Amino acid sequence: QPRTRDIINLMRERLPSKILALLADIGKSADQSGCNAFVVGGFVRDLLLYRKNEDIDIVVEGDGILFAKAFAATRQARVHAYSKFGTAVITLDDGFKVDVATARTEYYTAPAALPEVEKSSLKADLYRRDFTINTLAIQLNQSRYGTLIDHFAGQKDIKDKTLRIIHNLSFVEDPTRIFRAVRFESRFGFSIGKLTVRLIENAIRMGVFKRLSGARAMGEIIAILEESDPVPSILRLHEFRLLAALHPAMALTETTTQLLMESRKALDGYELMAEDSNCLRWLVYFMVILTPCTSGEAREVCRILRLAKWQEDLCVRERQQADHCLKRLAKELPLDNSILYARLHVFKTEVLVYMMAAADSNRTRKAIAHFLSRLRSVRPEIQGRDLKNLGLPPGPRYKKILIQVLDAKLNGLLQTKEDETAFVARILSDTGRQNGNLELIK
Ligand code: ATP
Repeated sequence: QPRTRDIINLMRERLPSKILALLADIGKSADQSGCNAFVVGGFVRDLLLYRKNEDIDIVVEGDGILFAKAFAATRQARVHAYSKFGTAVITLDDGFKVDVATARTEYYTAPAALPEVEKSSLKADLYRRDFTINTLAIQLNQSRYGTLIDHFAGQKDIKDKTLRIIHNLSFVEDPTRIFRAVRFESRFGFSIGKLTVRLIENAIRMGVFKRLSGARAMGEIIAILEESDPVPSILRLHEFRLLAALHPAMALTETTTQLLMESRKALDGYELMAEDSNCLRWLVYFMVILTPCTSGEAREVCRILRLAKWQEDLCVRERQQADHCLKRLAKELPLDNSILYARLHVFKTEVLVYMMAAADSNRTRKAIAHFLSRLRSVRPEIQGRDLKNLGLPPGPRYKKILIQVLDAKLNGLLQTKEDETAFVARILSDTGRQNGNLELIK
């Protein structure tokens, strides 16, 4: 058991002063409210692992909502309370959020359902958590400030780099914990303990996933796919036959695994070159996981897992179009930027990143990267207003002319707005000459 002094020193060494001051103030406020307050869970785990984590979860023995209100009153903070759960979110004046919960016990009325809750002690509250490494707490009350509370040997498991559940029914009660085990294993470089592995296998064999809602399963899958390298976790899900448990068509093949690794490279490459990346990483990986499925199966998976319609379309229809486009590019890579643009601009970022991963040659990959980094954002400077000033009455020709300007600009023929204006004037006079009558241009 580390001495309280060591924990306080660790906190001083690792935490930003703003957070240190906040934790101390929470302790003072708890004393004034006559309750015990603890910072718990991932925050404490990451403190001991020397990892940055600024998500503060406070558990209060007493009334969490009353405490949150009393604390908020000592400074300019807002409180949003959820009385049904005894929880509250405090938002400080700078927007920083602190989660507060009343220590509670959960009763599962049915396996894999959401639990009923009741007020309790810190220990009972920690008992309902997923893994021992997430059960650590540090007390914040002034007289016990910095006391590490470790009811379930979480410190030992952190030292041994092991993920262990707290009781044998844990995965039956909440199968999402299986996904969390896989995610944490890879994130922290830990291993799932032997008994815990057996309990995962048992739970899957018992068919616990039949009772888990598609939306909750997808939430966990997304969390895995949003980690910095989800590929080992996806392989682990496959090893546990967890993907197939969600839908038999979700079987990982050698080719898919390769494509997943290429996707990671493509995503990292894209994020390096993109000024502000708006690419959903999980969606690229998920699209790849679905590649061995038929369209019908892929749509079924998307529906079971409650993906939005546009996400389903992206994974099925757009991906097929992308494969088709890749075949065309492999046959003949366009020399003109404008043609490359015409082929690629219809695709969303996620699909373009997928295409970079799935491309069969470096030349094609480079062409897609060139489109993403250079061509995609090119726009004519000239606008409808300018066309009007050139004497062209508004109408459907505007669009055609602006496309011609864009093509010429993509091909490097126009640099400045003056170039564009001169280019349009030339088009107009050419057409005029051809028609012998300017009126016909309209
Ligand atoms: P992340 O860094 O992904 O946010 P985290 O563990 O730091 O992971 P949350 O996932 O927000 O944070 O969870 C907060 C705490 O709630 C965890 O420390 C964990 O103990 C508990 N928890 C979350 N999900 C479950 C679950 N399904 N079953 C039991 N406890 C859970």
